Amino acid sequence: MKKQKNKSSKNRFLKDVIIITILLLLILTTMFIRPKQKEVVAEEVQKRVGIPYQVDHIPQSSKRPKVHRKIKYIVIHNTANPASTAKNERDYLTNPVNTSNTSWHIVVDEKEMIEAIPLTEVAHHAGTTDGNEYGIGIEICESGNYEQAEEHAVKLVAYLMKYYKIPLSRVTTHQDFSGKPCPRLLIDRWDDFLRRVEEND
Ligand SMILES: [Zn+2]
Repeated sequence: MKKQKNKSSKNRFLKDVIIITILLLLILTTMFIRPKQKEVVAEEVQKRVGIPYQVDHIPQSSKRPKVHRKIKYIVIHNTANPASTAKNERDYLTNPVNTSNTSWHIVVDEKEMIEAIPLTEVAHHAGTTDGNEYGIGIEICESGNYEQAEEHAVKLVAYLMKYYKIPLSRVTTHQDFSGKPCPRLLIDRWDDFLRRVEEND
């Protein structure tokens, strides 16, 4: 009778050990394996912003080194060219006369958005390693109806913040990284821009 009792308590102990081990393994996996950041889905972005989201990637080059990274910031720019549309900006990236390393991820104007580099890859827009390595570079065009382009950017930023879980404190200007006065049409109204992004839900 006594022997049987010992055996059952030993079994119970073994069961407990197995359950605790499984629980510990589950906790460790959730701690160390974080979900990978995924590219945005064009249909979802255009539904949210209300204008087409074209994916038109440039080939691998010094502008697009094809380096995978983790996204931490959204970095806002103005094109500093009142005549240039989103299409013009995208075309310029692959124009042979353009030999600079400078690039960006998304350009937005009054009627469309174009993604030139996958958002999970490095692009050269912020003037510092930190900004380039971890930031999504968004160019706001100054052509046509600028107010509308800016409103599209507000919606786009709000969407990307939610999608990549980026806090408002990490929505920055180009100037924050390198000191260059960019986005030139927004610097003086930056707090207002952030407020509009925050309220855009
Ligand atoms: Zn800039």
